[in-house]
Amino acid sequence: MPYRLTVIGTGYLGITHAACMADLGYDVLGLDIDADKINRLRDGELPIHEPGLEPVLRRGLESGRLRFTTSYEEAAAFGDVHFLCLGTPQKAGEFAADVSYLDSAVESLAPHLTRECLIVGKSTVPVGTASRLADKLARLAPVGDEAELAWNPEFLREGFAVQDTMNPDRIVVGVRSEQAEKILREIYQPLGDIPMVVTDFATSELVKTAANAFLATKISFINAMAEVCEAAHADVNQLSKALSYDDRIGGKFLNAGLGFGGGCLPKDIRAFMARAGELGADQALTFLREVDAINLRRRARMVDLARELAGGSFHGCTVGVLGAAFKPNSDDIRDSPALDVAVQIGQQGGLVSVYDPIALDNARKAHPELNYATSAIEAARGAHVVLLLTEWQEFVDLDPEELGSVVATRKIVDGRNALDVPAWRAAGWHYKALGRP
Ligand code: NAD
Repeated sequence: MPYRLTVIGTGYLGITHAACMADLGYDVLGLDIDADKINRLRDGELPIHEPGLEPVLRRGLESGRLRFTTSYEEAAAFGDVHFLCLGTPQKAGEFAADVSYLDSAVESLAPHLTRECLIVGKSTVPVGTASRLADKLARLAPVGDEAELAWNPEFLREGFAVQDTMNPDRIVVGVRSEQAEKILREIYQPLGDIPMVVTDFATSELVKTAANAFLATKISFINAMAEVCEAAHADVNQLSKALSYDDRIGGKFLNAGLGFGGGCLPKDIRAFMARAGELGADQALTFLREVDAINLRRRARMVDLARELAGGSFHGCTVGVLGAAFKPNSDDIRDSPALDVAVQIGQQGGLVSVYDPIALDNARKAHPELNYATSAIEAARGAHVVLLLTEWQEFVDLDPEELGSVVATRKIVDGRNALDVPAWRAAGWHYKALGRP
């Protein structure tokens, strides 16, 4: 393994990338400015929940191939290839992405670059960012054009991050030289025969945002159908099932429910619209405004359904909320539909009790005003309405009789169309779901 790698930014993406690259046999140095996170990682403790990642992290540490630092000087001296895995969140009060973390990482790294190296951006960025960062790198790196930039967007899914990193559908690289392409091909060669699309910077950046825009659109499409089904007394689950047999459509991302959230889709479609506006191509993406609006309307509809079941007002009403993470098998609560609904109900006077198998600590930090329970049963105890908002398997497997024995009234809204409806109705539950009669 000739190349020594650094991974700059050890969040959801960076930790996974660093640990998996070490597992492939590379010597890897992970860098973050969060010293507490780095100390935990050095101790083999994952600061995030990601199934299957902890053993990979531990193997890396034990083999000596994976180390962590907070020093840019050390990283610059160590790495032949530096992967940039910084966050690109939505700017406060705007749709645009905040790419300042990437700028700051390049500004910290570049002045220490005194030997040939490749810097590889993996973050999701507005098109044009790579080109701008390449100029910055050229200005700041003492080694000049011996420090080159490439863009290699990441498509991993939280909850399947290790699997997706070790066996990606495709690898996309935006490069400006054959040398950069050659290095990236060599680095990913141990993954096997993965389709690789080699392109320019702008196309590589756009592939990622286009993929997320498509996925968000598919989810909002079926949720728009759910709205129509509600008006027409039709069943969106059956509709979706019938559509899914058409292999031009396919069944993935076609489950109606509370919609998408998380640290990627919502902010990525907004940043895409903002960037298209700057480029004078805003008309091309006006449909994404609708995609976003449909998505947010599902949250409002969920609150309305819960209020209806509560008898028209949340005052004096206890609401048991199952789920805080934006999706199962993750502790990520960024833009979580579940927490958004819980907060709105709390603001409307409901006494909300939230339970999530993994995301409670994150939820508590972000929303200390809510009440948190230690189990699904505790969250539901005394509830007038129970809401299933994140489809953890543990919730899908709940026994309707057992849960029914602790609630004040057997009323449930299934925000993810995940429960076995006949079983819940047979146990005397008043069952409601989005998009179904
Ligand atoms: P994150 O917020 O979890 O991680 C970012 C990390 O960067 C944090 O640990 C932070 O402390 C660190 N950081 C901030 N400033 C720094 C600096 N100057 N130097 C070094 N480290 C610094 O974000 P994430 O979810 O890992 O996402 C990273 C990027 O990857 C984003 O652009 C995101 O859109 C993209 N992405 C994420 C996923 C995902 O599933 N999370 C999937 C694909 C792509």
